[in-house]
Amino acid sequence: MKYYDKLIFELSAEGRNGYSLPKNRFPSANPLPKSLTRSEAPLLPQVSEVDVVRHYTNLSQMNFGVDTGFYPLGSCTMKYNPKINEEIANLPAFAGIHPLQDASTVQGVLEVYYNMERMLAEITGLSAFTFNPCAGAHGELTGLMVMRQYHLCRGDLGRTKVIVPDSAHGTNPASAAVCGLEVVVVKSKENGRIDVNDLKPLLDDTVAGIMMTNPNTLGLFETEIKEIASLVHAAGGLLYYDGANMNPLMGVVRPGDMGFDIMHLNLHKTFSTPHGGGGPGSGPVGVAAYLEPYLPLPKVVRCDDGSFSILQDRETSAGKVSGFMGNFGVILRAYTYLLMLGKENLRKVGEFSVLGANYIKESLKDLYKLPIEGVCKHEFVFDGLVNDGGHDEVHGATTLDVAKRLLDFGFHAPTIYFPLLFHQALMIEPTETESKETLDAFIAVMREIAREAAEDPAILQEAPHNTPVRRPDETAAARNPILKYTDSKPCE
Ligand SMILES: *Cc1c(COP(=O)(O)O)cnc(C)c1O
Repeated sequence: MKYYDKLIFELSAEGRNGYSLPKNRFPSANPLPKSLTRSEAPLLPQVSEVDVVRHYTNLSQMNFGVDTGFYPLGSCTMKYNPKINEEIANLPAFAGIHPLQDASTVQGVLEVYYNMERMLAEITGLSAFTFNPCAGAHGELTGLMVMRQYHLCRGDLGRTKVIVPDSAHGTNPASAAVCGLEVVVVKSKENGRIDVNDLKPLLDDTVAGIMMTNPNTLGLFETEIKEIASLVHAAGGLLYYDGANMNPLMGVVRPGDMGFDIMHLNLHKTFSTPHGGGGPGSGPVGVAAYLEPYLPLPKVVRCDDGSFSILQDRETSAGKVSGFMGNFGVILRAYTYLLMLGKENLRKVGEFSVLGANYIKESLKDLYKLPIEGVCKHEFVFDGLVNDGGHDEVHGATTLDVAKRLLDFGFHAPTIYFPLLFHQALMIEPTETESKETLDAFIAVMREIAREAAEDPAILQEAPHNTPVRRPDETAAARNPILKYTDSKPCE
């Protein structure tokens, strides 16, 4: 262990400090009442500035991020976040505003909201967006509230079910449940697409709608989407589109044209604003024109004289979902991204994300099991190794072992054991911002790992070997979590 890998408490030395405060300019005529002051000084580490800087800089380097390496985490769209986005978001005119400022003093900000709504409408084929939801899952909940409100406003009170495919992202059924709707699962066929014959008998007047993503979570395009849309609509239900990962479609296909009525986007995935660690995020929700009256407020509108104002009330609205209008900083980064890219290049995002995923898939499918053949979109799923080197499932190298071994080579692991359709699922999404050289390096390492698995699976089972934290005991970590500082060393 390096000296500065120590915890900050362990670097402490009596009497040392890292600050110098100016002298108190005010007479302390009114000292704090005794009952509010502490009797002993707080137990804080006593460290110099240089110790603090080294401590946190070293900590930051123990972490993995898009700015430190390739991050093929499926269903997460870990693409490069251009630094110009940060520069714009940091401009004082944007970073220094307050949500209670009068609309007349933030016209430029409102214009960003307005223009962004128009751009997203054009990209998705839907009519109006709300920017109030602060995450993808929050967008799902908002979209479902809109769906429910639509049915209620029509006096159609019995629609309490939402159909969700078995390949869906976990947040879909969770959002439906939070919205008070009942989840009904529709099965996938052998080829990974929704089984239309399984869907038909589920459609009746208790169905509020269906939640889907296309391409689905296996990275496969639902080729029967037109038929699915007309069946659901004929039964009086609506189609909800999970657009968290819009990469492969941008500039090529639009959810609105496929027949979807409501969708969310993850600006903190597809539109290049940083994510991870719980936010801040942005999950704008778009709807077809006939659903606009149900969107949550407030929202930005353009007045006849060309100025912008904020619409606060509408009787039919499904209600508020956040304070004010979502995470403006995230929306601004996404807006910058779109302006920098321009219309002509947007389509390339889709093409390159699909090309990269297929290139990796085809380059590895002799060594990793590919359960469903054919062209994928921006991501795909392997079902573990072809040759795991073991006599049985217990002794061979598993998907977890492959993921851990990748860390030794400086790559982040793919998503593992999701979707649940395959026991050894290994879900890879390269994203369009990676060069061919990076993809080739990743392929070479994956091939090397497959060779190790076949010849000496123990190397994988004990991996990672050279990361700051070795393989934790996941059962012990879950059963007996250590959540505060102790001077025992849980990581070693
Ligand atoms: C990431 C993701 C979500 C959820 O988005 P959050 O911002 O994490 O709440 C939903 N659906 C899909 C397909 C996703 O990839």
